[in-house]
Formats: sequence, C-alpha cells, structure tokens
Amino acid sequence: MRFYIITIFPQAFDSYLKESIVGRAIRGKKIVVKFYNPMDFCEPKKRVDDRPYGGGPGMVLRPELFLKAFSKIKIKDKKKTKIILFSPSGKKFNTAYAKKLVKQKYTDIILISGRYEGIDARVKKISKAEEISIGDYVLTGGELPAMVLLDCISRQIPGVLGKYESLEEERISSSEVYTRPEVLKWKGKNHKVPKVLLSGHHDKISFWRSKR
Ligand code: SAH
Repeated sequence: MRFYIITIFPQAFDSYLKESIVGRAIRGKKIVVKFYNPMDFCEPKKRVDDRPYGGGPGMVLRPELFLKAFSKIKIKDKKKTKIILFSPSGKKFNTAYAKKLVKQKYTDIILISGRYEGIDARVKKISKAEEISIGDYVLTGGELPAMVLLDCISRQIPGVLGKYESLEEERISSSEVYTRPEVLKWKGKNHKVPKVLLSGHHDKISFWRSKR
C-alpha cells in the first residue's frame, strides 16, 4: 500500500513513522509513505494561506498550491486510488472503513491534510476527494488524522502485524487485559488477575472477554 500525504507540516510525522509496527511496516516495504508539501509550490515571499471570501476570522489554504502538490502524485490506477481530504464535518472514519479499503484492493491512498480554517473547497471538488473526519472534535490540523488512518489501515494489511499480533486480532479480544504479576501489591493492597483468565478454560475465557 502506498500513502501519499499532502501536508504543509511533513515533519510532524517523523518520529511516529519510525516507531513500532508502522516503522517496521515501512522498513519491510509493506507500506510506502511519500510527502508532498504545498509550500514547495509557494511563490517567494507569498503566503500559503489567504483571507476567506465572505469574511470571518482565520485563514484559508490557497487552492493552487494544494492542486500543484496533488498533481505531482503519479496515480498508477485511478480505480485503485482513494483520495481523502480531512475535515471535522466529513464522513466518520472507523475500522470497518479501513478494512474495506484493504479488502477492495486499493493500492494507493492520498491523504490531504488541512490547517487553519481549512483548504479552499475547490480542491476537494477538483481532486474528487472524499471528506473524512476522525471524530467529533476539531483539531488544529489534518496531520494527526492522516497518522490515524495510516496506522489503522496499515494494520489491516496482511503481514503488517506479526503472527502473534494478528492471531490476537482474530480471537475475541478485550479492552481489559492483564499480564504478570498474578497478584499486584500496590500501596498495601492486593490486586488480583480475574480467576477465569488463569483457568485455562478457553470457552470461558472467550465468554468473559466478549463481555468486556
Ligand atoms: N473551520 C473548519 C475547521 C478547520 S480545522 C471547520 O469548521 O470545518 C483545520 C484542519 O484540521 C482541517 O482542514 C482538517 O484537515 C483538520 N481537522 C481538524 N479536525 C479534524 C477531524 N476531527 N477530523 C479530520 N480532520 C480534522
């Protein structure tokens, strides 16, 4: 899977893309991540943003710079390329959406991150992007949303999670998890691991997990 990220802050991704499972996926060439910075197309001494038509506070990102960055991406197969533009009022992203992209065999995903008041709306129309939100809150930029999608989509790609981790995915998983010690002594109290998890009884464990 190839990810093309259009952002004016590509460095915001640096450390995240090096760590853990995502870092391993990049090093193992399971995913490829490329950046396209609209700033690179900004004329000397000009700004990347401009005042909004109709008035109001905040600045709007200029369309030409984003379109120039977008047109630098070499789209191999249009039908296998998904174009996503981030907006707090877009369609809500979830795991099912990530799974669908992988199942439908998309090979290229373009993620367009905004800042300030957002990107001039003509970019969405011209690029035919789908507007996606990662939740009902407003962030200062689309970089975190791009990382969220990249992370969630990547872990659906076969081979990105290790054998052990993917096995874990297929079993009934739970948000309540425990590791050693069996009895945790903390500030004079004993905190025990639930008995069922020590029972070795797989059906009972699955049932217990499905209730968590
Ligand atoms: N004025 C805009 C908010 C802009 S927030 C509005 O009311 O819609 C600035 C940028 O951050 C957006 O262009 C988008 O790329 C990103 N962003 C902020 N919150 C987001 C969210 N919940 N989901 C996805 N992108 C978000």
